[in-house]
Amino acid sequence: MSDCIFCKIAAGQIPAKKAYEDDDVVVFHDIAPKAPVHLLLIPKKHIESLFAATVEDQAILGKLLLLAPQLAKEHGLDAGFVTRIHTGAAGGQEVFHLHVHVLGQPQAAA
Ligand code: C5P
Repeated sequence: MSDCIFCKIAAGQIPAKKAYEDDDVVVFHDIAPKAPVHLLLIPKKHIESLFAATVEDQAILGKLLLLAPQLAKEHGLDAGFVTRIHTGAAGGQEVFHLHVHVLGQPQAAA
């Protein structure tokens, strides 16, 4: 979608601090982090929200959820992390391109 900010990040048209990228997914650090680690996992495909997802998106939705613990661990969140998916304005969604928040505080090494 031409005026979607996350599509532009996925396409490299506007900068973001990327943490991971493959053919289907981009992960980047939230520009206004709400925790010491705050990542956003997005599909490259424009899916407006969970309301707009269909059975065709099953694989990419699964991929995003499986990437969450991998990226969390790579950022020191071995002890645990929070995932959030805001859906719709009443669900707190501000950017209407589906994204999974991964938030957490790295634990000090014992
Ligand atoms: O889930 P929701 O739509 O509320 O969250 C959007 C998130 O996208 C916010 O946490 C905001 O800081 C982030 N954002 C970003 N880079 C942008 C625009 C928004 O990381 N250029």
